[in-house]
Amino acid sequence: MKLQEIPVSVLPGVGPKRLTAIESLGIKSIYDLLFYFPFRYEDMEVKSLEDAVDQEKILLKGIVASDPVVAHFGYKKNRLNVRILVENESIMVTFFNQPWLKDKFETGNEVAVYGKWDQNRRALTGMKVIGDSHSEGAIDSVYSVNKSIHQKTLVNLIKQAFDTYHQDIVSVIPIEIRTKYQLLEDEQIVKGMHFPKDEQESEVARRSAKFREFFLFECGIQSVKAKDRQDNDGLVEDYNREFVQEFLNDLPFDLTNAQTKVVDEILSDMSSKHHMNRLLQGDVGSGKTIVAVIAMLASVTAGFQAAIMAPTEILAQQHFEKISNLLTPLKLRVGILTGSQTKKEHDTIAQNIADGKINVIVGTHALIQDSVNFKNLGFIVIDEQHRFGVNQRKALREKGPNPDVLAMTATPIPRTLAITTYGDMDVSRIDELPSGRKPIQTYWIRSQKVEQMYRFVKKQLEDHAQVYVVTPLISESEKIDLKNAELIFDKFNELFAPKYKIGLLHGQMPNDEKESVMDDFSAQKIDVLVSTTVIEVGVDVPNATVMVIYDANRFGLSQLHQLRGRVGRGDKQSYCILIADPKNEIALERMKILTTTTDGFVLAEEDLKMRGSGDLLGSKQSGLPDFKVGNPIVDFNILETAQQEAEQLFKDDDAIEKPENKVLKLFLSVEFEQLNNFD
Ligand code: ADP
Ligand code: MG
Repeated sequence: MKLQEIPVSVLPGVGPKRLTAIESLGIKSIYDLLFYFPFRYEDMEVKSLEDAVDQEKILLKGIVASDPVVAHFGYKKNRLNVRILVENESIMVTFFNQPWLKDKFETGNEVAVYGKWDQNRRALTGMKVIGDSHSEGAIDSVYSVNKSIHQKTLVNLIKQAFDTYHQDIVSVIPIEIRTKYQLLEDEQIVKGMHFPKDEQESEVARRSAKFREFFLFECGIQSVKAKDRQDNDGLVEDYNREFVQEFLNDLPFDLTNAQTKVVDEILSDMSSKHHMNRLLQGDVGSGKTIVAVIAMLASVTAGFQAAIMAPTEILAQQHFEKISNLLTPLKLRVGILTGSQTKKEHDTIAQNIADGKINVIVGTHALIQDSVNFKNLGFIVIDEQHRFGVNQRKALREKGPNPDVLAMTATPIPRTLAITTYGDMDVSRIDELPSGRKPIQTYWIRSQKVEQMYRFVKKQLEDHAQVYVVTPLISESEKIDLKNAELIFDKFNELFAPKYKIGLLHGQMPNDEKESVMDDFSAQKIDVLVSTTVIEVGVDVPNATVMVIYDANRFGLSQLHQLRGRVGRGDKQSYCILIADPKNEIALERMKILTTTTDGFVLAEEDLKMRGSGDLLGSKQSGLPDFKVGNPIVDFNILETAQQEAEQLFKDDDAIEKPENKVLKLFLSVEFEQLNNFD
C-alpha cells in the first residue's frame, strides 16, 4: 500500500522536530496523516447579532463599509481594521498580523467574517474571511492536537499531503458494497472530512467514513474468525455420550430448552477439531452453572482436566460445594484452589493438579499462578468473565495445549458489544429462565420512607423469607464504608434480634469468616445478611427472596440488576427494594426503569445509552473499542450494516482472493496488527 509506506518526512517543512511532534499524534505515514480526521467542526453558520454571545466565536455576514486600514506597531506587528455593516449596525473588525487580507475587503461588497465577538465594544476579532475561494470552506475543522503542534500547522500539512497524493488514495471497500450503500470513494472521504465546503458535504463524508471505519474493523474480526476456522489444531474431546446423558437424567430438574440448545452447541464444538472460543450469555438466574458443569464433565470423560475460574473467593467456594455435590458421586475428583489457602494446602493441591489426580478444579485467579501446572487441561470455564482482564483469561488458556474456552457472563451483552469487543467469539445465549420463576417485584422508596421497608421486611421474615441487605461503597475509605454497613447491621439487630439472626459480611473480613457467614446464610441459620457488595456476583441461595439495596443510585444499572438477581432463584415470589434519593432526571429515570423491567438485556442497553451517549469516555468505560469517527452506540445502524457486510464478504470469499477484494486484502495485511488491537 503505497501511502502507508511514505513517511510524513517527505513533506516540505517537516524536519526532525516537527516529525517528532507529528508522530506524537500517532501519525507516521502520509496515509496516517490523510486519515487523521478532525474530531469536530466549528459551527460556522451565519448568526444574527442578536444571538451573538460575548467572547464566543461567530460568523457574521455584512457589507464592507470602509476601506481596510493596516496599522503597524511594535516589531513586525500590525493590525488590520475594517468596518462592516451587519443588520444596519457598523461593526469594527480587527485582524492581527494578516495584512494580506486587505484585498478581501472592497467597499460595498458582501463579506463573511469568522471571529471572536466582543459584546461591549460591539466588535469582532477576525480569524478568518470566508470568501468564495475554494481553499477556504465555510466549515472549520478542528483536530485533536497536543502542545507540540498547532492546528494550523497540521491543517497545512494535510493540505499539502492531499494536493500531492490525492490520486494515490485507493478505495478499500469493494465497489459492490460502496454502490449498495452509496458510499464515497476514499479520496472523496478524505476531502470531505478535512475540507468540506458546506454542512452537507461534511455529513456525506462522515457517513462514509464511519462505514469505512466500522467495516474495516469488522473485517479484522472476521479474519481472526476465518483463521480459527482454518486452524485444525483444536482439541478433539471425544466424550462419553451415555455417561453425560445419564448425568442429565439424574438431575433434579429438566434443562430448559435454551440450556439444552447451548449444551449441544458446546458439546459439538468440543468434539470437533475447531478451537472453541465461546461466550455464554444468560441473564442472572438463567442457570449457566449447570451448563458449565455438564461441559466439564464431558471433557473429563474424554480424558482431560477441566477448570472453572470465578472472580471471588465466595463464588469459588460456592461453586466448589455445588460441583462436588454433583460430580463426586460419579467418582470425579474435584478440587479448589484460592489465594487464601495456606502454602501447604496450596502445594498439595497444585501437586494433585499436576499429577492429574484432580479432574475438575475450581478456583479464583489463583489458578493462573506460575506454580500451577495442569497435566492435561482440555476445557476452561471463565465465570463472570467481564470481571477478568484479557491477560488473566489468556494466562489460564495457556495452561493447556489449546483448551476449549467457555466464557460466561450474567451481564447481558448488548449487540453493540457482541459485534465489536466480543466479535471474535461465538456467542450462545440462554434466553429463558427455568420454568416456575416469578418475576421479581421491584419497589423504589426514598430514604425518608425507610420505615416502610422495615415493616415489609418484618412481614417477610414472619413468612420465613431470607433477606439480603446491601450497602454500597460510599467512600474511598474502607473504614467509613464498614461503618455504614455496621450501622445498618445494628439497626436490623435492634429491630429484629434475637428472634431473627442478623449476619454481617464485608470485604475486609478474613476469608474463612466470610465463608462461614455465607455457609450459615445458605443453611438458613442467618435470616438477614447485611453486606457490602461482596455478594454482587454469582451467589446462589434460592431461599433468599428479599433484596434491599441502600443508596441504590450509587450503583450502575447493570450492577443493580446483578444484585437483584441474587433473589428470584427459586419458585417463591421475590422482592427487591431500592432505597435512593435521586438528584437528577437521569438518576430518577434509572430507578423507574428498574421498577418496570427485569429484562437484563433491556437494562444493559439503557445503561450503555445513559453512560455513553456520544462521549468517548463513556464508551471507553463500557468496554467498547475506541473508534475514531463512528460511535458504536449512536451509529449502531451503520455498525450493524458494516458487520453484516463484512461477515458476508468472508463467507463468500474466505481467504479474500477475489480480484474485487484485492485492495481490501492488502489493506488488511498491513493494518492487521492495528485492527487486531481491539481487546
Ligand atoms: P446463573 O445463570 O445466574 O449463574 P445459576 O447457574 O446460579 O444461575 O442458577 C440459578 C439457580 O437455578 C440455581 O439454583 C440452579 O440450581 C437453578 N437451575 C438451573 N437450571 C435449572 C432448571 N433447568 N430448572 C430449575 N432450576 C434450575
Ligand atoms: Mg453464575
